[in-house]
Order: sequence, then structure tokens, then C-alpha cells
Amino acid sequence: MAIQWFPGHMNKARNEIKEIMPQMDVIIEVLDARIPYSSENPMVTALRGDKPVIKIMNKADLADPKLTQAWKDYFEQQSGVKAIDFGNDKAGEVHRINELCKKLVPHKVGADKQIKAMIMGIPNVGKSTLINTLAGRIVAKTGNEPAVTKAQQRIKLDDGIMLYDTPGMLWPKVENENSGYRLGATGAIRDTAIDYEEVASYTAEYLLHAYPELLKSRYKIDELPESDWEFVEMAGKKRGCIRGGNQIDTYKMSEILINELRDGIIGRITMETPAMREEEEQMVAEL
Ligand code: GDP
Repeated sequence: MAIQWFPGHMNKARNEIKEIMPQMDVIIEVLDARIPYSSENPMVTALRGDKPVIKIMNKADLADPKLTQAWKDYFEQQSGVKAIDFGNDKAGEVHRINELCKKLVPHKVGADKQIKAMIMGIPNVGKSTLINTLAGRIVAKTGNEPAVTKAQQRIKLDDGIMLYDTPGMLWPKVENENSGYRLGATGAIRDTAIDYEEVASYTAEYLLHAYPELLKSRYKIDELPESDWEFVEMAGKKRGCIRGGNQIDTYKMSEILINELRDGIIGRITMETPAMREEEEQMVAEL
């Protein structure tokens, strides 16, 4: 699947972040808990130097809790990294993020001091929603249409933290084809840029081996087929996705599968594990 990101946008964002980075005390990196690897932006690691980073495993309400924990443990092995799971259902616990900021940069805590925190995340990861939750008021525009460029802004939080929204737009992983599919499946990549049937068959293949019981129960299939495409056809038949004559409408079933995955209707699903990350990073390095 081809994903095109304009080099001009990338360079502009990189330069702006490079310029502002030295002033920052801590980075708040927002990840999608369903794809903690593919929703990372390579620039965060490249530009943060040794600044502490809080990895927010966002949308954890949609992700597999066991894997969210595995990812948190994995990330925290890296020095200067703390990970927190967060989601719509945890808005009441947002102060944990402020507290962690203060813990990571204790020398910036005090009456006349201020912590400068930069929040970074790929489009549609829930960054604006999180900014509004942190601020306790609407300061950022949210919406489920990815790739809206927003101007940089500073938001003063309670307890001595100044939050800097990333200037420009951060692109997701582009070198890894698997990441492209997972970004498409979870909705991080614009619908016009994805091929539903390709993404659905990738998704079905993963779910058949990682979450067979969830598939069986959602699509009322007692015995799952071996191949992803057979699954799409079988589920399509069950759902009455029929077109012309008596053909199974696999496009319609692909849309259903992806939309139900995105909405968390199939169950709490995470599409990658730390082991998959290690393996794929190795593959990318060897290219
Ligand atoms: P941004 O592009 O990163 O600023 O993302 P937004 O904050 O606009 O959110 C993108 C979409 O994800 C919106 O439809 C939000 O309602 C949804 N969203 C954001 N945070 C969460 C979350 O924690 N859980 C779930 N289920 N959806 C979320």
C-alpha cells in the first residue's frame, strides 16, 4: 500500500520542532495503544536527545489490556521513558500525567518555576482530545478526519506546566508495509488512501491467529476458515452482504470489518506486540 507524505511538510515540521526542542523539559508522546509501534513518529526519538518522555498509550479503552501492559513494560526498559495508559474512560485520571511530568523534572517544580512540555503525536491519535482533557476546557479542535494541519499553540495547565502543541504535522511510519496496513485498519490513515479489501484481508489474517474467539463470537462462525479471504467471504454471507445475482459483496464486508474494528465492536484488540516490533525493525534495518 502506497502512502505519500509530502517531503516539504516533513521538513517544515522537523525544522520547527528542532528549533523549539531545546527549550522543552519533557516530551509527551501520544501513541495509539492498539498500534504502539506503528503510531510512533521516528522524529520524536531522533530529536528528543536525552529529554525524558512520557509515552501515552491512548485509546487504551479499545486496546487489549494485557498487551497494553506488555507495551508499557517494554517501553519503560528504555532510559528516561515512562508509559501511561489513557483513554476516553480515564478522563478523570488525567492528573496522573501532570504528576508524572513533575516527577520526571523535579528541578522545575516550585512556586516561580515552570515545566515546558511538548505534546507530539501522529494525526488522529487523539492528541487534541487529550489536550482538551489536560486543559480542562476546549482549546484544540478535535475530529475524526486525520491530517488536519493545526497552528502551534501554548496552553497553560494548572500546577506549573506549560503545554506546547507540536508545530506542523507528524507523519506515521512509512518504511514498513505492515505499519501501513495497521494504520489503515485503525483509522490513522485517511480513508481515501486505503484499499478496504486489502486492509480487511490483512486485518482478518491477524485476527484469525491473534483473536479467533472474538471473531467467532462477533461473526457467529463456529469453525473459522484458515485463510483471511475465506473468512471475509464467510462473514459476508452471514451478514447478508450480497450483490448482483448471488455474489458475496466482499467490499461491503471489508468495510464492516474495518469499521467494527475501529469502533471496538469486535472486542479490545491490539494489532502489534513488542516482539513484532523487534522483528519488523530488524527487517527495516536490513532493507
Ligand atoms: P488528533 O488528530 O490526534 O488531534 O485526534 P483527535 O483528538 O481529533 O481524535 C481523533 C478521533 O479519535 C476522534 O474521533 C476522537 O473522538 C477519537 N478519540 C480520541 N481519544 C480517544 C480515546 O481515548 N478513545 C477512543 N475510543 N476514541 C478516542
